Amino acid sequence: MSDTILATERLVKRFGGVTAADAVSLSVKRGELRCLIGPNGAGKSTLFALLCGIYRPDSGLVWFNGRDVTSLHAFQRVRRGLGLTFQTNRTYHALSVRQNLETALGAPRGDRPEGAEARYRHVLGRFGLERDLDRPARELPHHQLQWLEIAMALAGGPDVLLLDEPTAGMSPDETLQTARVLKHLNGEGLTIIVVEHDIAFVRELAQLVTVLHQGRVFAEGTVAEITQHQDVRRIYLGRT
Ligand code: ADP
Ligand code: MG
Repeated sequence: MSDTILATERLVKRFGGVTAADAVSLSVKRGELRCLIGPNGAGKSTLFALLCGIYRPDSGLVWFNGRDVTSLHAFQRVRRGLGLTFQTNRTYHALSVRQNLETALGAPRGDRPEGAEARYRHVLGRFGLERDLDRPARELPHHQLQWLEIAMALAGGPDVLLLDEPTAGMSPDETLQTARVLKHLNGEGLTIIVVEHDIAFVRELAQLVTVLHQGRVFAEGTVAEITQHQDVRRIYLGRT
Protein backbone atom coordinates (compact mmCIF):
# COMPACT_ATOMS: atom_id res chain seq x y z
CA MET A 1 0.00 0.00 0.00
CA SER A 2 1.27 3.43 -0.81
CA ASP A 3 0.19 6.72 0.71
CA THR A 4 -0.75 8.02 -2.74
CA ILE A 5 -4.42 8.98 -2.79
CA LEU A 6 -4.81 10.29 -6.33
CA ALA A 7 -2.63 9.68 -9.35
CA THR A 8 -2.66 9.84 -13.11
CA GLU A 9 -0.60 7.80 -15.55
CA ARG A 10 0.25 9.37 -18.91
CA LEU A 11 -3.16 10.97 -19.37
CA VAL A 12 -3.86 12.18 -22.90
CA LYS A 13 -6.82 14.31 -24.00
CA ARG A 14 -7.07 15.80 -27.48
CA PHE A 15 -9.50 18.33 -28.89
CA GLY A 16 -9.11 18.20 -32.67
CA GLY A 17 -5.52 19.20 -33.30
CA VAL A 18 -4.93 20.44 -29.74
CA THR A 19 -3.45 18.09 -27.16
CA ALA A 20 -4.85 19.63 -23.98
CA ALA A 21 -3.38 16.89 -21.77
CA ASP A 22 -0.17 15.41 -23.11
CA ALA A 23 0.95 12.34 -21.13
CA VAL A 24 0.26 13.92 -17.73
CA SER A 25 1.53 11.80 -14.83
CA LEU A 26 0.78 13.15 -11.40
CA SER A 27 0.88 11.69 -7.92
CA VAL A 28 -0.72 13.27 -4.86
CA LYS A 29 -0.18 11.90 -1.36
CA ARG A 30 -2.80 11.60 1.34
CA GLY A 31 -2.81 14.79 3.41
CA GLU A 32 -1.14 16.87 0.71
CA LEU A 33 -2.23 20.30 -0.50
CA ARG A 34 -1.20 20.45 -4.16
CA CYS A 35 -1.50 23.44 -6.48
CA LEU A 36 -1.77 22.98 -10.23
CA ILE A 37 -0.85 26.19 -12.00
CA GLY A 38 -0.03 27.31 -15.51
CA PRO A 39 -0.73 30.07 -18.03
CA ASN A 40 -4.04 30.33 -19.86
CA GLY A 41 -4.58 27.37 -22.13
CA ALA A 42 -2.02 25.23 -20.26
CA GLY A 43 -4.57 22.45 -19.77
CA LYS A 44 -5.52 23.04 -16.13
CA SER A 45 -9.29 22.80 -16.57
CA THR A 46 -8.87 19.81 -18.88
CA LEU A 47 -6.83 18.01 -16.23
CA PHE A 48 -9.41 18.95 -13.60
CA ALA A 49 -12.18 17.47 -15.79
CA LEU A 50 -10.14 14.30 -16.32
CA LEU A 51 -9.51 13.95 -12.58
CA CYS A 52 -13.15 14.33 -11.69
CA GLY A 53 -14.55 12.23 -14.53
CA ILE A 54 -16.24 14.91 -16.61
CA TYR A 55 -13.89 13.98 -19.48
CA ARG A 56 -12.63 10.54 -20.43
CA PRO A 57 -9.01 10.47 -21.52
CA ASP A 58 -8.02 9.31 -25.01
CA SER A 59 -5.45 7.21 -23.19
CA GLY A 60 -3.91 6.91 -19.75
CA LEU A 61 -5.28 6.14 -16.30
CA VAL A 62 -6.68 7.87 -13.23
CA TRP A 63 -6.18 6.19 -9.84
CA PHE A 64 -8.12 7.21 -6.77
CA ASN A 65 -7.90 5.59 -3.34
CA GLY A 66 -5.98 2.64 -4.78
CA ARG A 67 -8.47 1.94 -7.57
CA ASP A 68 -8.49 2.54 -11.29
CA VAL A 69 -11.40 5.02 -11.71
CA THR A 70 -10.65 5.95 -15.34
CA SER A 71 -13.97 4.61 -16.59
CA LEU A 72 -16.08 5.98 -13.70
CA HIS A 73 -18.43 8.95 -14.09
CA ALA A 74 -18.02 12.05 -11.94
CA PHE A 75 -20.91 11.10 -9.63
CA GLN A 76 -19.34 7.68 -9.03
CA ARG A 77 -16.01 9.30 -8.13
CA VAL A 78 -17.86 11.67 -5.79
CA ARG A 79 -19.44 8.64 -4.08
CA ARG A 80 -15.96 7.20 -3.65
CA GLY A 81 -14.81 10.29 -1.81
CA LEU A 82 -14.01 13.06 -4.28
CA GLY A 83 -15.34 16.53 -3.35
CA LEU A 84 -15.60 18.99 -6.25
CA THR A 85 -16.01 22.71 -6.83
CA PHE A 86 -16.12 24.30 -10.26
CA GLN A 87 -14.90 27.46 -11.90
CA THR A 88 -18.50 28.61 -12.35
CA ASN A 89 -20.47 28.77 -9.12
CA ARG A 90 -23.15 26.10 -8.81
CA THR A 91 -25.07 27.21 -5.74
CA TYR A 92 -28.87 27.64 -5.86
CA HIS A 93 -29.64 31.30 -5.31
CA ALA A 94 -33.30 30.78 -4.40
CA LEU A 95 -32.44 28.36 -1.59
CA SER A 96 -31.07 29.19 1.84
CA VAL A 97 -27.49 28.41 2.76
CA ARG A 98 -28.71 25.42 4.80
CA GLN A 99 -30.86 24.13 1.92
CA ASN A 100 -27.90 24.40 -0.44
CA LEU A 101 -25.84 22.32 1.94
CA GLU A 102 -28.60 19.74 2.27
CA THR A 103 -28.97 19.51 -1.50
CA ALA A 104 -25.26 18.76 -1.64
CA LEU A 105 -25.77 15.81 0.68
CA GLY A 106 -28.19 14.36 -1.84
CA ALA A 107 -30.05 12.32 0.75
CA PRO A 108 -33.17 12.89 2.84
CA ARG A 109 -32.91 13.66 6.56
CA GLY A 110 -31.94 10.63 8.60
CA ASP A 111 -30.23 9.02 5.63
CA ARG A 112 -27.21 11.30 5.48
CA PRO A 113 -23.53 10.65 5.79
CA GLU A 114 -22.68 10.57 9.47
CA GLY A 115 -21.66 13.89 10.97
CA ALA A 116 -22.59 15.83 7.84
CA GLU A 117 -24.19 18.76 9.66
CA ALA A 118 -21.32 19.09 12.13
CA ARG A 119 -18.92 19.02 9.19
CA TYR A 120 -20.57 21.73 7.14
CA ARG A 121 -21.12 23.88 10.23
CA HIS A 122 -17.40 23.57 10.95
CA VAL A 123 -16.49 24.66 7.42
CA LEU A 124 -19.02 27.52 7.49
CA GLY A 125 -17.51 28.60 10.78
CA ARG A 126 -14.04 28.70 9.26
CA PHE A 127 -15.39 31.05 6.60
CA GLY A 128 -17.39 33.10 9.13
CA LEU A 129 -20.70 32.03 7.56
CA GLU A 130 -22.21 30.11 10.49
CA ARG A 131 -24.76 32.85 11.18
CA ASP A 132 -25.99 32.82 7.60
CA LEU A 133 -27.54 29.32 7.55
CA ASP A 134 -31.07 30.62 7.01
CA ARG A 135 -30.22 33.42 4.60
CA PRO A 136 -31.17 32.99 0.95
CA ALA A 137 -27.98 32.34 -1.03
CA ARG A 138 -28.89 35.21 -3.39
CA GLU A 139 -28.13 37.67 -0.59
CA LEU A 140 -24.52 36.48 -0.31
CA PRO A 141 -21.77 38.36 -2.13
CA HIS A 142 -19.83 36.49 -4.81
CA HIS A 143 -16.92 35.37 -2.63
CA GLN A 144 -19.25 33.95 0.01
CA LEU A 145 -21.08 31.97 -2.67
CA GLN A 146 -17.70 30.49 -3.62
CA TRP A 147 -17.14 29.61 0.03
CA LEU A 148 -20.60 28.08 0.27
CA GLU A 149 -19.72 25.90 -2.70
CA ILE A 150 -16.60 24.69 -0.88
CA ALA A 151 -18.71 23.91 2.21
CA MET A 152 -21.13 21.98 -0.05
CA ALA A 153 -18.28 19.96 -1.51
CA LEU A 154 -17.11 19.12 2.03
CA ALA A 155 -20.52 18.26 3.48
CA GLY A 156 -20.30 14.62 2.40
CA GLY A 157 -16.90 14.19 4.07
CA PRO A 158 -14.73 13.60 0.98
CA ASP A 159 -11.20 12.18 1.15
CA VAL A 160 -9.97 14.67 -1.45
CA LEU A 161 -11.21 18.17 -2.22
CA LEU A 162 -10.60 19.18 -5.84
CA LEU A 163 -11.12 22.85 -6.70
CA ASP A 164 -10.99 24.65 -10.05
CA GLU A 165 -9.99 28.32 -9.59
CA PRO A 166 -11.80 28.78 -6.26
CA THR A 167 -10.76 32.43 -6.07
CA ALA A 168 -12.00 33.49 -9.53
CA GLY A 169 -13.55 36.96 -9.20
CA MET A 170 -12.38 37.49 -5.61
CA SER A 171 -10.57 40.55 -4.28
CA PRO A 172 -6.96 40.08 -3.10
CA ASP A 173 -8.16 40.08 0.51
CA GLU A 174 -10.89 37.49 -0.11
CA THR A 175 -8.32 35.40 -2.00
CA LEU A 176 -6.00 35.39 1.02
CA GLN A 177 -8.86 34.48 3.35
CA THR A 178 -9.73 31.56 1.08
CA ALA A 179 -6.11 30.39 1.07
CA ARG A 180 -5.97 30.54 4.86
CA VAL A 181 -9.12 28.47 5.32
CA LEU A 182 -7.88 25.85 2.85
CA LYS A 183 -4.59 25.69 4.75
CA HIS A 184 -6.49 25.14 8.01
CA LEU A 185 -8.60 22.39 6.46
CA ASN A 186 -5.46 20.76 5.10
CA GLY A 187 -3.89 21.05 8.56
CA GLU A 188 -6.87 19.06 9.86
CA GLY A 189 -5.92 16.25 7.48
CA LEU A 190 -7.93 16.97 4.33
CA THR A 191 -6.16 16.30 1.02
CA ILE A 192 -6.68 19.25 -1.32
CA ILE A 193 -5.85 19.76 -4.98
CA VAL A 194 -6.32 23.29 -6.28
CA VAL A 195 -6.23 24.32 -9.91
CA GLU A 196 -5.37 27.99 -9.81
CA HIS A 197 -4.22 30.86 -11.97
CA ASP A 198 -3.63 33.37 -9.17
CA ILE A 199 0.03 33.28 -8.11
CA ALA A 200 -0.59 35.29 -4.90
CA PHE A 201 -3.02 32.61 -3.78
CA VAL A 202 -0.50 29.86 -4.55
CA ARG A 203 2.18 31.78 -2.62
CA GLU A 204 -0.10 32.04 0.40
CA LEU A 205 -0.79 28.29 0.32
CA ALA A 206 2.97 27.64 0.07
CA GLN A 207 2.81 23.96 -0.79
CA LEU A 208 3.99 21.68 -3.57
CA VAL A 209 3.21 23.12 -6.97
CA THR A 210 2.85 21.41 -10.33
CA VAL A 211 3.23 23.71 -13.32
CA LEU A 212 1.42 22.80 -16.53
CA HIS A 213 2.38 24.19 -19.91
CA GLN A 214 0.99 23.15 -23.29
CA GLY A 215 -0.72 20.15 -21.75
CA ARG A 216 2.42 18.81 -20.07
CA VAL A 217 3.85 18.78 -16.58
CA PHE A 218 6.49 21.46 -17.03
CA ALA A 219 7.91 21.66 -13.50
CA GLU A 220 7.17 20.53 -9.98
CA GLY A 221 8.48 21.86 -6.68
CA THR A 222 7.90 24.13 -3.73
CA VAL A 223 6.50 27.63 -4.33
CA ALA A 224 9.98 29.04 -3.71
CA GLU A 225 11.54 26.72 -6.28
CA ILE A 226 8.82 27.34 -8.83
CA THR A 227 8.88 31.12 -8.57
CA GLN A 228 12.70 31.11 -8.92
CA HIS A 229 12.65 28.69 -11.87
CA GLN A 230 13.81 30.67 -14.93
CA ASP A 231 11.77 28.67 -17.44
CA VAL A 232 8.65 28.88 -15.29
CA ARG A 233 9.06 32.65 -15.04
CA ARG A 234 9.40 32.78 -18.79
CA ILE A 235 6.29 30.74 -19.63
CA TYR A 236 4.12 31.57 -16.65
CA LEU A 237 5.04 35.01 -15.46
CA GLY A 238 5.95 36.17 -18.95
CA ARG A 239 9.44 37.41 -18.08
CA THR A 240 12.97 36.15 -17.63
P1 ADP B 1 -6.53 26.23 -18.85
O1 ADP B 1 -7.63 25.81 -17.95
O2 ADP B 1 -5.16 25.97 -18.35
O3 ADP B 1 -6.67 27.66 -19.29
P2 ADP B 1 -7.79 24.42 -20.76
O4 ADP B 1 -7.69 23.06 -20.20
O5 ADP B 1 -9.10 25.11 -20.64
O6 ADP B 1 -6.62 25.34 -20.20
O7 ADP B 1 -7.41 24.36 -22.30
C1 ADP B 1 -6.25 23.71 -22.80
C2 ADP B 1 -6.26 23.72 -24.32
O8 ADP B 1 -7.31 22.88 -24.79
C3 ADP B 1 -6.53 25.10 -24.93
O9 ADP B 1 -5.79 25.20 -26.12
C4 ADP B 1 -8.01 25.08 -25.20
O10 ADP B 1 -8.31 25.92 -26.29
C5 ADP B 1 -8.25 23.61 -25.55
N1 ADP B 1 -9.58 23.16 -25.15
C6 ADP B 1 -10.02 23.02 -23.88
N2 ADP B 1 -11.26 22.56 -23.84
C7 ADP B 1 -11.64 22.40 -25.14
C8 ADP B 1 -12.85 21.94 -25.76
N3 ADP B 1 -13.90 21.54 -25.05
N4 ADP B 1 -12.87 21.91 -27.13
C9 ADP B 1 -11.80 22.31 -27.85
N5 ADP B 1 -10.65 22.75 -27.31
C10 ADP B 1 -10.56 22.79 -25.98
MG1 MG C 1 -9.22 26.92 -16.87
